[in-house]
Amino acid sequence: MIVVMEPNATPSQIEHMVRQIEGLGLRSHIIRGTERTVIAAIGEKRGQAKESLETGPGVAAVVPILAPYKVASREVKSEPTSVVVGSLAVGAGALGVIAGPCSVESETQILDTARAVKQAGAGALRGGAFKPRTSPYSFQGLKEEGLKLLAAAREETGLAIVTEVVSPEDVDLVARYADVLQIGARNMQNYRLLEAVGGCGRAVLLKRGPSATIEELLLAAEYILNGGNPNVMLCERGIRTFESHTRFTLPLATVPYLHRKTHLPVVVDPSHGTGHSYLVTDMAAAAVAAGADGLIVEVHPDPENALSDGYQSLNIDQFRALMIRCRAIAEAVGRVVEPAEPSPFIEASVATIR
Ligand code: PEP
Ligand code: MN
Repeated sequence: MIVVMEPNATPSQIEHMVRQIEGLGLRSHIIRGTERTVIAAIGEKRGQAKESLETGPGVAAVVPILAPYKVASREVKSEPTSVVVGSLAVGAGALGVIAGPCSVESETQILDTARAVKQAGAGALRGGAFKPRTSPYSFQGLKEEGLKLLAAAREETGLAIVTEVVSPEDVDLVARYADVLQIGARNMQNYRLLEAVGGCGRAVLLKRGPSATIEELLLAAEYILNGGNPNVMLCERGIRTFESHTRFTLPLATVPYLHRKTHLPVVVDPSHGTGHSYLVTDMAAAAVAAGADGLIVEVHPDPENALSDGYQSLNIDQFRALMIRCRAIAEAVGRVVEPAEPSPFIEASVATIR
């Protein structure tokens, strides 16, 4: 249920209602909007709970939350959530671009990429240090050494760091180095991991599982929000279908659909979503046109020799072209790519690079 307070409800009336909700054995979650405060009452509803809350001081209405997810729902919070972590701003009008290699491979590789993506206007650097690989014989990542290289890249460029965490035991370690913890597609329903990042004090990028429904994605987000972490970004990264011309199928209707259902920002990953570098820029542009709040793009200085996902990684020139195109589209759909000005801007002609 949602307890909607009157616009002029006092702090003591809000506190009183929180106590009432908790006295009924429910959990309370306060959302302060620009107009009024609402309190979500979460848990199994018993007996006359709705009726008894309705008569509380300063209460305008008590309404049921129809969606199975509660704190993630637009019914509970109508204003879009913006996640701001250092140089990265995603949501509520800001379009943040996270770029970098699939895996951190070496000091030169990550520093060269960091400098180049920053110059092209990215808001954050991505790079996997703990890699969940389909085959146990594939490169598994540099682990803590990779995290140290990411932290060095942040030190030099000021870019926020986004990196994956694959198990609950590693959450503290990864949170020590990273600004945003990525939950990979394979772990979307690893509920102990979701609970662990719910309490880690860092923003989270939650990727959709390739076979998960949108409702399951939102329920997974709910685990993180319930841990007290409001800084959750959802990521559409493609789903498994019968189609084989792309690595996964990238359903962009997810973007406007999620915007109807949740206040959380929506990031699109056109790299894993297509699996082919030559499709990435067009699908990134389409994602921005569909209203995405962010992009996460694999970029490598030498994709041919990458240790993972080289075939879907853009080289530096291709990434610059992507940024130019996405900036133009963002402007047309009322979004601002953050940071607003790449530093210093590099002249690149989309026509010659594509
Ligand atoms: C990645 O971002 O490199 C990755 C492994 O992504 P996903 O979990 O979406 O497959
Ligand atoms: Mn990858």
